[in-house]
This record gives sequence, structure tokens and C-alpha cells, in this order.
Amino acid sequence: MLKGKTALVTGSTSGIGLAIARAMAKDGANLVINGFGDAAAIEKERAGLETEFGIKAIYSGADMTKPAEIDAMIAQAEKQFGSVDVLVNNAGIQHVANIEDFPTDKWDAIIAINLSSSFHTIRAAIPGMKKRKWGRIINIASAHGLVASGQKVAYVAAKHGLVGLTKTVAIEAANNGVTCNAICPGWVLTPLVQKQIEARAKASGQSIEEAKVALLSEKQPMHQFTTPENIGALAVFLASDAAQSITGSAYSIDGGWVAQ
Ligand code: NAD
Repeated sequence: MLKGKTALVTGSTSGIGLAIARAMAKDGANLVINGFGDAAAIEKERAGLETEFGIKAIYSGADMTKPAEIDAMIAQAEKQFGSVDVLVNNAGIQHVANIEDFPTDKWDAIIAINLSSSFHTIRAAIPGMKKRKWGRIINIASAHGLVASGQKVAYVAAKHGLVGLTKTVAIEAANNGVTCNAICPGWVLTPLVQKQIEARAKASGQSIEEAKVALLSEKQPMHQFTTPENIGALAVFLASDAAQSITGSAYSIDGGWVAQ
């Protein structure tokens, strides 16, 4: 379905972003991958995507806290492939603390990476999408884009902001062949969540397995993790022609978290 199209996925060197990039490549899209990590491991991943799926993949090391690097990443993608057709804003970080203990630099970083970077990528990529009359923007928000939890003030604020940004962009681009939607996952077992499980186990004296069950059952009626591949499949659906009239939506994929 996505053959000949270009998908750019921020934060795709790990976790959900990597699974989304793989799903887009499997569907035929050329890729721009992005994120931090070991240079040799990233190159291996990039080259592996090309061989496994018969597509072209380039890497951008743009830091999502830096608007100039984001502009350069979009320009690099358009120069290399002629277009950015599917833009997936996925890069994100977390920090857990009560507001009075929340470090101000962590607040700034979370707002920059989890919210403002999507403003910058969309601002740079949407003129090309509107001109070509086709584009798909998919913002990876969270159940925390719809409801809150304690100790996550910056994350919850950023993700609620991202859902709002999604709706505005959807309205603006509604008659230009461009859709903009958010995906709101519940718990997905990635390095971002593994850190929280380890911190819980340490604080409570539980085993890692016990801490996993405790984490899941506190929020989700379904006591199992959504997989990164589940989210990749939803992103590919939202990028398809079948989803052409879905815009401004926030899709929950959360084991019933926000149904309560
Ligand atoms: P992860 O830690 O596995 O991956 C995060 C990615 O973002 C990595 O590739 C990392 O290098 C990249 N990144 C971080 N800072 C960056 C920066 N400044 N510039 C560029 N790239 C940067 O995390 P994940 O769990 O796969 O999370 C991906 C997205 O999904 C995030 O937006 C997260 O909030 C969201 N999400 C995750 C869960 C979950 O349970 N894991 C649930 C809901 C939403």
C-alpha cells in the first residue's frame, strides 16, 4: 500500500518507533529513521531494514529538542526521497516525580521532545503534503493524553497537548488530502516502561515479575502489555487509503485503560 511513499518516524531506534518503522517498511515505504543510540547498532538496523524489506532507509540523528535540526531532517528527507508522505511523531521520554520535586530541566525536556517536536516536524513537513494533496500525520500520544496519573505532570501535560495539536492540524488540513490522528497506547513493554518497572520493584521490594503485574493491574483492566507490533499495525492502517476520512481522532490501544 505504501510502495513509493516515504515514512519518517521520530525516535525509531528503539521500542514503539522501531516497530512502526518496520511495519511501514513491510508495507513498502521508504524510511527515515531517527533517534539516539550506538552508531554501529543504528547502521546495522538501517541496513537490515533495506535488505529485509527491499526499501531505502536513511538515518537522521536530529535531536528533537532542537528546531533547527528538525528542519534539517525534514529537508534531508525531502531532498533524498522527494517527499515526506507519512510523518510519525513518536520520540518521547518520561520522568516520574511529584510536582514539587520535578526537576525544571526534565519539565523542559519532556515538553520539548514529547510535544514541541511535533509542532516543528509538522510545521516543516505539511506544506509538501498539502501541495501533493496526500499526507498522513500520526502522533504517538498515550492514555496519558486522555487521562492523568500522579507523578507524571510533564508527560501528562505534553500528551494532552499533543492530542490538542492533532485536532487543530486535522481541521486545518481537512480538505488537502492530509489526515492527522493520535494513537494513545496503554502499557507497552519497551525500555521506557522497563525503567519504571525496575524503579517500582526497587521501591517496593517486589520481584521484576511482581512489579510488572502490579503496574499493569493498577491501570489496565486487561493485564497484558500492548506490543510495539500492535501499534505498528494501527499506524499502517491510519496511513492507508481505507483511513482517508479518519482525522482528528485519538485512537486508544490500551487494554481498556480509559474505558473506566
Ligand atoms: P523508548 O525509550 O523505547 O524509545 C524512545 C525513542 O525516542 C528512542 O528511539 C530514543 O532514542 C528517542 N529519543 C529520545 N529523546 C530523543 C531526542 N531528543 N531526539 C530524538 N530522539 C529521541 O520508548 P517507547 O516506549 O518506545 O516510546 C515511544 C513513544 O510511545 C513515546 O512518545 C512514548 O511516550 C509513547 N508511549 C509509550 C508507552 C509505553 O508504555 N511504552 C505508552 C504510551 C505512549
